[in-house]
Amino acid sequence: MEQYLSNYLAKTPGSARLYQRALKVMPGGISHNPRFFEPYPLYIKAAAGSKIQDVDGNEYIDLWMGHYAHILGYQPEFIVEALKNGITKGTHWGIVNELHVEFAEDICRIVPGAEQMRFGVSGTEATMYAIRLARAYTGRPVIIKVRGGWHGASTDLLFAVRAPMDVAESAGLPPDMPDYTKTISFNDFSQAIDEIKRQGTKLAAVIIEAVGQYFIPPEPGFLEAIQEETRKAGALFILDEVITGFRLGLTGAQGRFGLRADLVTMGKVLGGGMPLGIVAGRKDIMDLANPSSGRSKGQGVVIGGGTFSGLIAAMITGRTMLHFLEINQDEIYPALEDKGRRVRAGVEKAFRSRNIPVKCFGIGSLFNTCFPKSDDDVLKNIEDVDLKTDIDARDRRFRISLLNHGVYTKYGGGAVSFAHSDEDIERLLAAVDRVAEEWPT
Ligand code: PLP
Repeated sequence: MEQYLSNYLAKTPGSARLYQRALKVMPGGISHNPRFFEPYPLYIKAAAGSKIQDVDGNEYIDLWMGHYAHILGYQPEFIVEALKNGITKGTHWGIVNELHVEFAEDICRIVPGAEQMRFGVSGTEATMYAIRLARAYTGRPVIIKVRGGWHGASTDLLFAVRAPMDVAESAGLPPDMPDYTKTISFNDFSQAIDEIKRQGTKLAAVIIEAVGQYFIPPEPGFLEAIQEETRKAGALFILDEVITGFRLGLTGAQGRFGLRADLVTMGKVLGGGMPLGIVAGRKDIMDLANPSSGRSKGQGVVIGGGTFSGLIAAMITGRTMLHFLEINQDEIYPALEDKGRRVRAGVEKAFRSRNIPVKCFGIGSLFNTCFPKSDDDVLKNIEDVDLKTDIDARDRRFRISLLNHGVYTKYGGGAVSFAHSDEDIERLLAAVDRVAEEWPT
């Protein structure tokens, strides 16, 4: 057995035991696939600020941060206080109230193009509803997504997520789903534009993230070109800001890249640590969800988060978070940019200085490492990374070795939070340096 694996086994016996118990009651020992990794996932018992603690008492600098939700670190004190004070009135009412209205007003004031919005409880729902709205608004059946794009686990979007591309990501989906879900390649102008043109009058919407799961930045003009071509086709441009919303800046990727989506989906950071997702956008589209519009049955669109939509606890944490980000934006976002830049540069330096080809992608606080054959390899999208780089080295050796040195990553990277101190970044880069030192050449 490789040394890094035996070190992990020696360090995490408690996780190994919990995994065996978990396997009996949950398929794969987990309840969300991205949380699994070989030989068994780390089971944790505590999280605070920038750190997590596993069941064996080992501490790690965390970079996954609640699936990128915790932009200020785990449970910032002011959020905990707001929740403690607010929760005595109720966790969940399930009846409309002023908190809903106030938070929705804030979101519509801050998010570009958000004339109206609806609360749900996850990003998965948000993207599912956005697509439903687009189909209803345009009266067209086809949607286009990016190859390698993850927008949650709804039926239409569980397609072409990772290599091999252009296959469904799950069994149990309607066999004709690929007839209605088409794909484009990120950063491939001509393929993407040709496909949008090809779908033409059948196209309801293009749904796209500004940076994608491996945080590969868009080439200049790419997102703008997709937005323009989508509009020319008479379809809706849906920007999935579930990761980027309130992270790339207060106005998200729309603000950063000068985009104006017809519909935008958000989650993660938005909830301030509680489950929350929204779909927001143009009033004439969102109004399809208005039950008092007098539309006949089947003409309106059913959207909303169900029983827990507008959960009081999430209204409190989300609104408190949004206010904090708004008030402190001039301090928070430049600091996140700087931390992300230092991490990306440090990771590349650790490997390049040892002549090991590496690429650390990212934007703002987001970063992602991969190991190509050569530093000259062109990697412009997730397909390139999946096909041309050593995924096993990233997801096994790099990940487990970093765990051995006290750092938790996902896809070779993650999201630095405002709670990550300079000392955390130094410790993280020292850990990366040791992993690079141990790397087989
Ligand atoms: N959209 C994007 C871009 C995401 O990254 C995710 C989750 O990782 C989703 C949608 C789904 O969000 P959730 O996990 O809250 O359902």
